Amino acid sequence: MQPPTREKERLTPLSTLHLDEYDMTRHHWWTHSPSRALDTAVTRLRIGHTRLNSHLHKLGMTDDPHCPWCPTYLDTPEHLLLQCPRHHSHRTALLQSLYPLLLRRPTLADLLGGSPDPGLAFKILKHTRTFLQKSGQLHRI
Ligand SMILES: [Zn+2]
Repeated sequence: MQPPTREKERLTPLSTLHLDEYDMTRHHWWTHSPSRALDTAVTRLRIGHTRLNSHLHKLGMTDDPHCPWCPTYLDTPEHLLLQCPRHHSHRTALLQSLYPLLLRRPTLADLLGGSPDPGLAFKILKHTRTFLQKSGQLHRI
């Protein structure tokens, strides 16, 4: 009997996974990576329910809606992924990795798998996951 795909992914080293192994037609396809923490972060960013200060402020859970490093900018997914100078080096690496995909000025939707081309969406999201992991901000998402 074949193990469920999720189980198979958990047992497969990251370096041996290939994009083709993911079925883009699956429900919530972006949640089938080998990392539950990254899946959760991407889902939270996609639905806008994060632990970033802007969202916590809307819920009355913090007084300050601003970025911890940029006191005049709201702490939003857009700011984290596209603007915050704190993550400049990781963003530069992200943008360079998107260059071969002909994506020069990605939007937040692009970065979170919103491309109408599912294959491209998955490739972009893979790079966004790398950004999220390397920026060390998963605990805030
Ligand atoms: Zn910032």
